[in-house]
Amino acid sequence: MHDAKILFENSLEWLKANYSNFQFFLERDVVWTIQTKIIQLIKEKGLPFKVFNDFPILPGKRRSITTDLAIINIDKNVEVAAEFKYEPSHRRTDLLQSKFPVVFWGKEGVEKDVHRIKKYVEQGKTNIAYSLLIDEGGFFRNREPHSGCEWVDWGNELWIHYLKIDINLHDFKNSFNKNEGNITMEENSIQDITTTEKVTEFSKDDENYLRWIIENPDGFVINTYKGKNPNYMVLHRATCRTINELSSKAKKGGFTERDYIKICALTINDLKSWIKKYGRPDGSFSNVCKSCNPICK
Ligand SMILES: [Zn+2]
Repeated sequence: MHDAKILFENSLEWLKANYSNFQFFLERDVVWTIQTKIIQLIKEKGLPFKVFNDFPILPGKRRSITTDLAIINIDKNVEVAAEFKYEPSHRRTDLLQSKFPVVFWGKEGVEKDVHRIKKYVEQGKTNIAYSLLIDEGGFFRNREPHSGCEWVDWGNELWIHYLKIDINLHDFKNSFNKNEGNITMEENSIQDITTTEKVTEFSKDDENYLRWIIENPDGFVINTYKGKNPNYMVLHRATCRTINELSSKAKKGGFTERDYIKICALTINDLKSWIKKYGRPDGSFSNVCKSCNPICK
């Protein structure tokens, strides 16, 4: 079994067979379980691999983008990268109902993982990558799978939203070239990723907005009126207390659900591009928050 792919897939098969023995609470519990299984198999069989969680795989703006799980060979190259999402069964009584759903289905969640693993492979960071949503009670099961993905039935209402990208397989190119005319695979799909990931507008959706700023502490936010008034487009850091739930004086729903909306991105430049399209052609902000000082440092 000198094959990291087989190692990973055997660990998944083992998880499937033993799933009822576990009581997971968080995504990390699932990743930990697979990680420790892989470590055990590596030891038992003396395989030339190591496995790491939160492994830096792509360069990022301020820190690297990490993958949930990476199997590394002796040359320190990534053989397998895997992204996980975990939605507990909504019928469980050992978890608060108010926390459901845990996972974002769209581009802040599962779809983001799908784009990410495509990027890992396209940029030559790994030859094989997986995106897995473990949907324990089938809450998302009736959604149309994201591009290239499929629903896999693990029995007992356990469903896996599954994508494997394997550079050695023939359908790799085909799945990327679908409907793309004569643009090359790489150019086009990277463009596709950036346009969907760059800027996110949150309107009437405090819950997802607050989750975005927690998940993207290095990101930036424009606060503006819901009519996108170019005279009021203020730049903040995602961590700024004036736009953050814990310490702001805003009442429930006050971030995006009444007068204001939020525009979020990982870089100031992305927000400048957005602002040019919405009434400030020079790409300037109407103001920059003095509390969080996003331009400095
Ligand atoms: Zn601020």
